Amino acid sequence: MKIIDGKKVAAEIRAKVAGQVKALKDKTGKAPGLAVVLVGDDPASAVYVRNKRKACEQAGVNSYEYSLAADTSQETLLAKVEQLNREDAVDGILVQLPLPKQIDSQRVLEAISPEKDVDGFHPLNFGYLAAGKPRLPPCTPAGIIELLDYYDIAIEGKRAVVLGRSNIVGKPLAFMLLQRNATVTICHSRTRDLPEITRSADLLFAAVGQAGFVTGDMVREGTVVVDVGIHRIDGKLSGDVLFKEVERKAAWITPVPGGVGPMTIAMLLKNTVRAFQLANS
Ligand code: NAP
Repeated sequence: MKIIDGKKVAAEIRAKVAGQVKALKDKTGKAPGLAVVLVGDDPASAVYVRNKRKACEQAGVNSYEYSLAADTSQETLLAKVEQLNREDAVDGILVQLPLPKQIDSQRVLEAISPEKDVDGFHPLNFGYLAAGKPRLPPCTPAGIIELLDYYDIAIEGKRAVVLGRSNIVGKPLAFMLLQRNATVTICHSRTRDLPEITRSADLLFAAVGQAGFVTGDMVREGTVVVDVGIHRIDGKLSGDVLFKEVERKAAWITPVPGGVGPMTIAMLLKNTVRAFQLANS
């Protein structure tokens, strides 16, 4: 079993992005800018936002942070997004999810200008991805593909099984794998005979949102296992894969923490630079 070291790969990507930002600054006199909007006081979201700010600072990307109260109305949030859409210094806009109950998240994500949609959640960007022409790909699935490429793990012709069909992970990941010529099966809560399907996988991706969901008996010897899940249990992070069982069978496996997680922020920086280039080309 070999470990897929997302921390190391993400650090290399971040260093590369920092180099690109410097070159862009030298050329245009401007640096890419990322605006992050946080609504409410969810502690996990606050940590994510703080990490994004630090990553921006290290890469030379300007970051603008807006913290709005938990009872912010949909109109107020939409007005903020509209203002950021018009702001020249802002190349990327990220509204931290989850949003409070009174706000329709989909409506907000659709209000973000597709050119500034660095999370890649806007239906237009999803459509580009589904059509095989990604423009701003969603960060977590894009980070997963980068990880496989970094370790020269073949995708073409492989049987890929994706557990989960969310719009932010499972579905876009499935399209990316399809684009890379994998044969893709998407599983969800109504899938029957799941272990039989997971045992047929060459590449298995777990984005289910349940700690330790993928057990050793669900995995064939030699499978590549990518764990997207993040769970904090008694102060310790773990994933959707029961690592101690599955690591014995997997050819390659991502740990939690230190696997997919760090890649998401690295890809966010990459998308911010891409959005800057789109705006300045
Ligand atoms: P989500 O929106 O809750 O989606 C979970 C998916 O899993 C759904 O499609 C659901 O099926 C499916 N599912 C649930 N129970 C199942 C079961 N028993 N058998 C098969 N499928 C089942 O979650 P998400 O946003 O995609 O996130 C998934 C996990 O990744 C979470 O732990 C999240 O914290 C983590 N995450 C990590 C990162 C990162 O940066 N590493 C980024 C995003 C998310 P239905 O559609 O039928 O309900």
